[in-house]
Amino acid sequence: MNQQIYINGEYFSKENAKISVYDHGLLYGDGVFEGLRIYGGKVFRLREHLIRLWESASSIGLQIPITIEQLTKDTNDCVARNEIDEGYIRMVVTRGSGALGLDPHRCSNPQIIIIVDRITLYPAELYENGLDLVTAATIRNHPAALSPRIKSLNYLNNIMAKVEGLKAGCVEALMMNHKGEVAECTGDNIFIVKHGKLITPPIDAGILEGITRNAVLELAREAGIETVEAPLTRHDIYTADECFLTGSAAEVIAAVKLDDRVIGNGKPGPMTNQLNEAFRKLVRK
Ligand code: PMP
Repeated sequence: MNQQIYINGEYFSKENAKISVYDHGLLYGDGVFEGLRIYGGKVFRLREHLIRLWESASSIGLQIPITIEQLTKDTNDCVARNEIDEGYIRMVVTRGSGALGLDPHRCSNPQIIIIVDRITLYPAELYENGLDLVTAATIRNHPAALSPRIKSLNYLNNIMAKVEGLKAGCVEALMMNHKGEVAECTGDNIFIVKHGKLITPPIDAGILEGITRNAVLELAREAGIETVEAPLTRHDIYTADECFLTGSAAEVIAAVKLDDRVIGNGKPGPMTNQLNEAFRKLVRK
């Protein structure tokens, strides 16, 4: 693969794609990002991702210096140039380089970066059999401190929880919110199935509004499944009939254990499989 990385409208090889060490994206995690998927050479839900990127930027007072139309075009051009049919896109907008102090007004030239690459999903075995989760002691950021709706470059909150998961032998970890309710996983949203209903925490549980989450909710409603956005406790997950996670990278993946409690019959359930199939069809459309 002859990788070409986009920075502010120009293309560079991986070795030459560089930004300043004075960029506040590096110094303070001051910036926003998106992770998108390419299926059959097309970007999945590009518009939704760009709207979320603009909302994240707006929430931290960062003005993206080009229009959404221009970034749409540039993203599609970047995918075509990299000649990738099935892959992943990491889109980053930094605050730009400034002084060593916090003041973002002293930063100029936000860096818009698009990296098109192959994707490493979880091992195939986990898609077949489901994955195990553990509850992280690290809770999700308090929404009144830094809203989890902002996909910011400061992902330490999630990284700390991810490390807890990995230490326990789990590729994902469950994060609670400041109220002790289920929020989401470190890079994925969570759903359960109970008595035929599909239930997921609401946005105000302090979660990222996942693009895959929204797609799965739409697919469920189209299939006549009752969907509920309601606060969940760990007890609800332990006693669910089924549980699965969603994310651009992970897609739809069953979770079959939480904190060593077996969820349902310990296998990916029928509604999980149904929605997974519907999602596969949707992305191939
Ligand atoms: N929650 C968090 C914390 C995430 O970082 C992500 C994206 N990796 C998701 C949920 C899933 O969002 P999406 O479906 O838009 O990828």
